[in-house]
Amino acid sequence: MMGSIKRSKAPIKFLTIHCAATPEGRANTAAEVTQWDIDRFGQPSYHWVVDLFGRAIRTLDDDQIGAHVGGKNTGNIGICYVGGLTKDLKAPKDTRTPAQKTALRDLVIAYKRKYPGLVIRGHREWPGVRKDCPSFDVSAWLRAEGL
Ligand SMILES: [Zn+2]
Repeated sequence: MMGSIKRSKAPIKFLTIHCAATPEGRANTAAEVTQWDIDRFGQPSYHWVVDLFGRAIRTLDDDQIGAHVGGKNTGNIGICYVGGLTKDLKAPKDTRTPAQKTALRDLVIAYKRKYPGLVIRGHREWPGVRKDCPSFDVSAWLRAEGL
């Protein structure tokens, strides 16, 4: 399966943050999130999955094309945190644990260094997207973090 994922030499221009749309406090693993994506899209969707404990697990190489923003996956790194919904699954919620926030921050810093000029967005900030993913305001968070 992993061998069939397309690779691209296109420059990395975007980093998009997602949530797994799992309930607050439920400790799904990166392997589980990745398997759901393989079942649904035939490949891992994201380049990284950040679990509740702040562990960042790489699920695609940077030059592998993900499946996380419709029609906009080339040169677009996808990072997904486990969570994003209330416990009853009825509403979007910023459920990021402190460890997840730290891990996301560290990934953003590393990618900004690696790919100067990188544009960082939440999934919902892409034009035409009608989703709440990732259940928080990425731009406001970046500003608050000084990133
Ligand atoms: Zn998303």
